[in-house]
Amino acid sequence: MARYTGAVCRLCRREKVKLFLKGDRCHTDKCAIEKRAYVPGQHGPNARRVKHSEYGIQLREKQKVKRIYGLLEKQFRLTFKKAERQKGKTGENLLVLLERRLDNVVLKMGFARSLAEARQLVKHSHVELNGKKANIPSALVNINDQISIRQKSRGMDKIKVSVESSTRKGVPAWVSLNDSDLEGKLVAYPKREEIAIAIPIQEQLIVELYSR
Ligand code: SF4
Repeated sequence: MARYTGAVCRLCRREKVKLFLKGDRCHTDKCAIEKRAYVPGQHGPNARRVKHSEYGIQLREKQKVKRIYGLLEKQFRLTFKKAERQKGKTGENLLVLLERRLDNVVLKMGFARSLAEARQLVKHSHVELNGKKANIPSALVNINDQISIRQKSRGMDKIKVSVESSTRKGVPAWVSLNDSDLEGKLVAYPKREEIAIAIPIQEQLIVELYSR
């Protein structure tokens, strides 16, 4: 599946908000948005303040969420269609589906420090889902599914460093982590208030955009 391969800090600067796409670096003064808090491009620093239309505001919200979860338009729209078919609020369903993606759950369990790192772990077959090799980042994780690091990959330094850090910080309430065995479980689907705590999301704007 295609993915964005350009400079990720540009994405934060474009959305004028930290999207935390680079792991630990995002929490340091090396963060690009701390140094250049203006939109990227030739006219960035001198860009006039543009008043966005209603459509523009909805579009930016959709772009922001797509970028947080590392999806391109087609995958994002397919996920939205799936959310629409489910019972309940489409916006919340969308966010829950995005959170349940295997790459995101691997990140939330603390096996990786950024979504890109988590996706690479999955794609390079370092992760098992219910005891079987799982190398599809978009696979949806269900309640009670067990996610573990494959035996042959347990010595990897970057996984150890990530897990040490997440053990210190803690993991979200909807996942559990057994740091010594490098395995975790999805104990519940995330509630709306447990999603996107660091980056406010107005999912209703995305629903409005796709309803046009
Ligand atoms: Fe780059 Fe992270 Fe800062 Fe975004 S939050 S600009 S990804 S360092």
